[in-house]
Amino acid sequence: MIPLINVSRQFQEMRNEILEAIDRVITSGQYVLGQEGSMFEKEVSDYLSSPYAVSVGNGTDALVLSLDALDIGPGDEVITTPFTFFASAEAISRVGATPVFVDIDPKTYTIDVSKIADKITSKTKAILPVHLFGQSCDMDKLMELADSYKLFVIEDACQAFGAEENGVKLGTIGDIGCFSFFPTKNLSTIGDGGLIVTKHEKLAKRLKQLRHHGSTKKYYHAEIGYNSRLDEIHAAILRISLAYIDAWNEERRQKAYGYDELAGVNGLQIPFRKPGHSHIYHLYCVEHAERDNLMAYLERNGVASGAYYPLPLHRQEVYKHLGYHLGDFPVAEEKASRLLALPMHPSLKAEEQQEVIRVLKAYRGNSL
Ligand SMILES: *Cc1c(COP(=O)(O)O)cnc(C)c1O
Repeated sequence: MIPLINVSRQFQEMRNEILEAIDRVITSGQYVLGQEGSMFEKEVSDYLSSPYAVSVGNGTDALVLSLDALDIGPGDEVITTPFTFFASAEAISRVGATPVFVDIDPKTYTIDVSKIADKITSKTKAILPVHLFGQSCDMDKLMELADSYKLFVIEDACQAFGAEENGVKLGTIGDIGCFSFFPTKNLSTIGDGGLIVTKHEKLAKRLKQLRHHGSTKKYYHAEIGYNSRLDEIHAAILRISLAYIDAWNEERRQKAYGYDELAGVNGLQIPFRKPGHSHIYHLYCVEHAERDNLMAYLERNGVASGAYYPLPLHRQEVYKHLGYHLGDFPVAEEKASRLLALPMHPSLKAEEQQEVIRVLKAYRGNSL
């Protein structure tokens, strides 16, 4: 079976460097909030050209702490997309606020900025766009809108580390940007990790306090916080990965161009690429009218694929009480039944990709 993502291959290629880094951490005697963490924060803020970077335990916590640092909580509304990984909305609910969904753009699958204004109320505090699959939503227009309504913008860039809009790294455009280093993400470690970037010094200080039990001075606590730090081992591994990220993202792009020959083949529609927006193909998703049949066919022919995402968030059991119905977000609902991710990762071999393409070209619909 050709897997969708092969993280083990990537980490095995880095095995010696990782073992050296782990050894360095063991010898240091500092395992949480030490030298590696602050070096990583420095290096990653340089890479992203963001003044402040605060590492945390995972991408979900990055979102939760960000909302908390902006004092968003019960009674507040945050506008986001129903077509994303659950954590984007979960974080809003976790701080006691209400996610308010807005349908997506049919081409980029990210929040449709032209539909946001209708959903803004006196309770709206922030917009939380998600740069889905590695490509930006329309941040230019979104920032304009947020400025005119004085709303905070928290970018969920968990799938888009290193991607840009008009030469600016995603995550650094809004007030706060959140990243995940979960093993399957473009920049990742062999466990959980997350990062928050911001251009506001005050927010960075608050976030550093929040991640460490609301404390900046040992055993003195200014507020109720969290225990959410990036372990030294993961920081050390991420420092290694950071040096490869541009090459990895480029490899993904080259593989995406390879898959592009599938455009129109057997009814397949390839991903849209927005001018001025760099796509880093966290996932390479094609559209197909018989998505589930095609998935089963691929499986029978030794190719793994994935439905992203099969159930939009407004239709999740846990959000029943929000009162949304089938038909509320027709674009998200349609894409949920059509999108299919193909094997994509930097260490995908040319012959594996050729096999995926061959199998897709041989698809003959329901008859097989
Ligand atoms: C992965 C992901 C998250 C959560 O990150 P974790 O590190 O797994 O907590 C949030 N939002 C999006 C869009 C993601 O893809």
